[in-house]
Amino acid sequence: MSLEFDTIAAVSTPPGEGAIGIVRLSGDEALAVADKVYQAGKKQLAEVPSHTIHYGHIIDPKNNGVIDEVMVSVMREPKTFTRENVVEINCHGGITSVNQVLQLVLQNGARLAEPGEFTKRAFLNGRIDLSQAEAVMDLIRAKTDKAMYLALQQLDGNLSQLIRNLRSEILDTLAQVEVNIDYPEYDDVETLTSKLLVEKAYQVKASINQLLQTASEGKILREGLATAIIGRPNVGKSSLLNFLLQEDKAIVTEIAGTTRDIIEEYVNVRGVPLKLVDTAGIRETEDIVERIGVERSRQALSEADLVLLVFNQNEPLTNEDRLLIEATNDNHRIVILNKMDLPNQLDLAELESLVDPESIVKTSILTKSGIESLENNIAALFFAGATGERDATYVSNVRHIALLHDAEAALDEVINGIESGMPVDLVQIDMTRCWDLLGEITGDSVQDELLTQLFSQFCLGK
Ligand code: GDP
Repeated sequence: MSLEFDTIAAVSTPPGEGAIGIVRLSGDEALAVADKVYQAGKKQLAEVPSHTIHYGHIIDPKNNGVIDEVMVSVMREPKTFTRENVVEINCHGGITSVNQVLQLVLQNGARLAEPGEFTKRAFLNGRIDLSQAEAVMDLIRAKTDKAMYLALQQLDGNLSQLIRNLRSEILDTLAQVEVNIDYPEYDDVETLTSKLLVEKAYQVKASINQLLQTASEGKILREGLATAIIGRPNVGKSSLLNFLLQEDKAIVTEIAGTTRDIIEEYVNVRGVPLKLVDTAGIRETEDIVERIGVERSRQALSEADLVLLVFNQNEPLTNEDRLLIEATNDNHRIVILNKMDLPNQLDLAELESLVDPESIVKTSILTKSGIESLENNIAALFFAGATGERDATYVSNVRHIALLHDAEAALDEVINGIESGMPVDLVQIDMTRCWDLLGEITGDSVQDELLTQLFSQFCLGK
């Protein structure tokens, strides 16, 4: 059974022109509201079978004016996204027609949905848990197929299941502790109980650690591998960038900044999302020595997950090149020897003494050769660490990561408490806190403000 809520409506497709636009309604009155504006002979949506779609017109009941020709999907609770009655009106895509249909349903008993309210209802009605609701948001924002896969997996409840198992183990232990305290059968019950707690704490901590290890990879999948392409002028940086950006590989996202809009460029290399950082700045400044001195560039370098350092092998190494090598020694770095189509002038032996020879890739962007191995190299670097296994459960959400760290800290308190001989009932409190913190990930223990804040980040109509 769904909880009692009013009926909400919103445009669920992106703003702008499209082949169709969808106005979605959810709530007890969804069918009744739709019937007031829908006309197809004598047909009443309230009477049609669930999960069917119907042709007809949207009519303004005030003046009988036809607003749009539509297809209307009717889905009755409980088998819907929100677990409420849902009606989706598929309109012709123009902004005006979709908006007119929305206005009309609002005048006829529906209320305009807040951002994320559909998903919030799915959560409140028990259809999905909080980490799944967040996955819906990630799915909308996913920038590559891998990020999308990650979100889909979370939507499947992969992470939730893992967290639930941990919580139930903790709960079992806490119950056992209670029993031991209430019915001490043995004299050494205190020792036994302490042992139980500390063993469980270590065990849960190990699982949390394992999850946290996937965090940086998960974060990169979500947000992209921050990548800086650097090198002296004319070595081929822009050519490389353009090559990576060409065709459908490029995804350009506009992110509303506080003072101005920043355009971030994403490229998708073998499913690894690269977020190109401050490339404009690095591309445009001519004087590298000065550029490296510039705080902003240093910042960009220190924040880069990956540096693509480009050299022109048709020229000898210069001091500027050496300086760039030095400046990026602490970065994950791929060294690109470009312009392989031209005669060799660069001393490879010297370069190999300065950088890891394995990190060198030879390319000619002009003739498009060697790019394959560059892409292999990027993918290998990314998947070198922990996983790349498709089945790993990733944590990528900042909120989840913070909660896992807090839960880990609570477990440390348990362990330290027991080891320093604290009474069991005090240690129990930390164990319970760990249980609570994990519950915040799935939304099993969560406060109202958090919910409001989380769901408000969604886009309208979701
Ligand atoms: P940037 O200043 O590092 O961004 O370098 P550009 O990408 O603007 O390239 C400088 C010049 O080198 C351009 O004329 C490119 O066409 C040329 N170029 C880039 N890659 C290659 C290459 O692999 N071989 C040759 N022969 N020329 C290249």
